[in-house]
Amino acid sequence: MAKQTHLHCSFCGRSRAEVKILIAGQEAHICESCIEHAQEIIAQELKDNNIQPTTNTTKISVKKPIEIKKFLDEYVIGQDEAKKVLSVAVYNHYKRITQKTQGDDIEIDKSNIIMIGETGTGKTLLAKTIAKMLNVPFAIVDATVFTEAGYVGEDVESMLTRLLQNCNYDVNAAEKGIVYVDEIDKIARKGDNPSITRDVSGEGVQQGLLKMLEGTEVLVPPQGGRKHPEQKMIKIDTKNILFICGGAFDGIDKIIARRINTNAIGFNVNKTDQENKRNNLLQFVSAQDLKSFGLIPELLGRLPVLTHLDPLDKSTLRNILTEPKNALIKQYKRLFELENIILTIDDDVYDFMVTKALEYKLGARALRSICESILTDAMFELPGSRQKEFHVDLAYAEKMFNKSKLSLLKVA
Ligand code: ADP
Repeated sequence: MAKQTHLHCSFCGRSRAEVKILIAGQEAHICESCIEHAQEIIAQELKDNNIQPTTNTTKISVKKPIEIKKFLDEYVIGQDEAKKVLSVAVYNHYKRITQKTQGDDIEIDKSNIIMIGETGTGKTLLAKTIAKMLNVPFAIVDATVFTEAGYVGEDVESMLTRLLQNCNYDVNAAEKGIVYVDEIDKIARKGDNPSITRDVSGEGVQQGLLKMLEGTEVLVPPQGGRKHPEQKMIKIDTKNILFICGGAFDGIDKIIARRINTNAIGFNVNKTDQENKRNNLLQFVSAQDLKSFGLIPELLGRLPVLTHLDPLDKSTLRNILTEPKNALIKQYKRLFELENIILTIDDDVYDFMVTKALEYKLGARALRSICESILTDAMFELPGSRQKEFHVDLAYAEKMFNKSKLSLLKVA
């Protein structure tokens, strides 16, 4: 007993009497509060260095829908409707995962999401930002690579391989992750007559997705590709994986317009109102339109949350250049700063970039190529020089843009 009084925590120095638990190592001891403290340090280090813990220690921090939207606002400009719908769906999904069973039979259904919007309007960015906020594993997959089992292409299960790889094969974490399935419109049914040829990359894939979206145990090939008997499989339960699908659905506006007209909406409304509606018909998209486009009802049933993204107008594009947390212009300024050069850009250069981006019809994606075309020469010449400032005015921007290959690509 007398010996016990000399024992103390080797980290904080407190004696045995001052702590509740003292764990002995080979030549040292540690108390319960130092263990807690060490755990916090580990969690912070892992987070700072972007390392996924290998054990089941990933805690999902679910914010309230309003806070989720606020977080999205920092990275994504506009798209308020989509942000709101996503915030609620994601909140409910993770509430469903973390809820304690109440003893009754009420089971909350999964709220997988489908987003419709032109290319480059922020669909992937929204999904990516949500995963970043929640700190859950995230994978982006392209629906066009999948074919029905047994045909050339990939099995749908391989999308889970991507998710596993992104979290160092931590099955527990992957089972609470998010998968973004891009180009879901490209697996639409190819016409109404299924008997002519087998639709192995359309309806066949949709069928293959059904169980996975709903929640089932799937055997996943750890290295991806086709399943083959010799390969060791990893079992993943998809019950708590959130699937977000996105697509441009080219031509769906005509389907929507037809439906709206036959429903006789549009009478007695003023002209500008009608004009606005015609310009953004996507806001009226319904599951019925997606069915007419070629998604099977069973798949739509498993994607109960439907939202749309607005086309990007001039002022949104202008904001995308400079406003988000990691806005393009902020990134270029940082690149120059790392060379000890201050980059300044005139306001009318931003307007010029936006006008060109609209001409190329690539959404915000065009902005990056346009910035590159204007700044590449400077980024080539300035490092190593003695210049401390670099200023871009409209004349310089126009000159650089016109001499780049990009200027030849204009969409008619
Ligand atoms: P989509 O998936 O709709 O085709 P992305 O989300 O991949 O488009 O967008 C491409 C890029 O354009 C993004 O990485 C981002 O830099 C930018 N971008 C697009 N829309 C927005 C937006 N609403 N706010 C901020 N940046 C955007």
